[in-house]
Amino acid sequence: MNNQFAVIGLGLFGSALCEELQLQNAEVLAIDIDESKTRQIATLCNHVIVADATDEATVAELGLANFDIVFVAIGDSLETSILTTLVLKEAGVKKVWVKARDKFHAKILQKVGADKVINPEWDMGRRVAQSMLDNRLFDYLELGHDMVLTEFVIGLQQNGRTLADLHLLQQSDFQLLAIKRGEVLHNVLTGKMELQLGDILILAGNKHAIDHWLDTL
Ligand code: ADP
Repeated sequence: MNNQFAVIGLGLFGSALCEELQLQNAEVLAIDIDESKTRQIATLCNHVIVADATDEATVAELGLANFDIVFVAIGDSLETSILTTLVLKEAGVKKVWVKARDKFHAKILQKVGADKVINPEWDMGRRVAQSMLDNRLFDYLELGHDMVLTEFVIGLQQNGRTLADLHLLQQSDFQLLAIKRGEVLHNVLTGKMELQLGDILILAGNKHAIDHWLDTL
């Protein structure tokens, strides 16, 4: 059975969540108190509703307790976001994920029972820093039709991890062709093989799949 998601608050963040979930064919219910926001997203999302998520009766009526993850993307009002989280947890929603504005907001959300707190600005800052320290030797060698060849140098974070740990051998959209270690090119690769600092992975395949994998490191 497919996972069922609900997103409350259709600002920039909530709309992006809904759009991506829908694109990935997930079941998603988009909720906002403001009708104009729901109208904007109606073309992107199959299930859209105007409702006040701080209202216990509404939460019960929508059956939100049966959803797998309910995401609270209300950033502008601290009070509303906290109250919504509380109402959802009291209604028995198993996983409530919430967008926080800052560390103080994040702390309160955790106290009222949020299962995961996302701070987009903070998380994005860290990701940008990581890409500034990107270990790729060169960006890509384009092979056409979104296919690329690229090299990735193993850094401290991946040192000692195996190819199995990094899910490198079961990728369907790209392949690890070989590992350059010093002057030796290893092309017989097993899941147990441990990576060492400075190893160079030679990867070929779909550019987006490779980027996605790099993002998981
Ligand atoms: P972003 O920063 O991602 O653009 P905003 O904080 O601007 O997000 O958007 C929050 C959204 O949450 C708004 O569209 C607002 O109408 C909606 N919202 C605010 N209060 C409630 C509520 N009680 N129930 C449902 N949606 C709400």
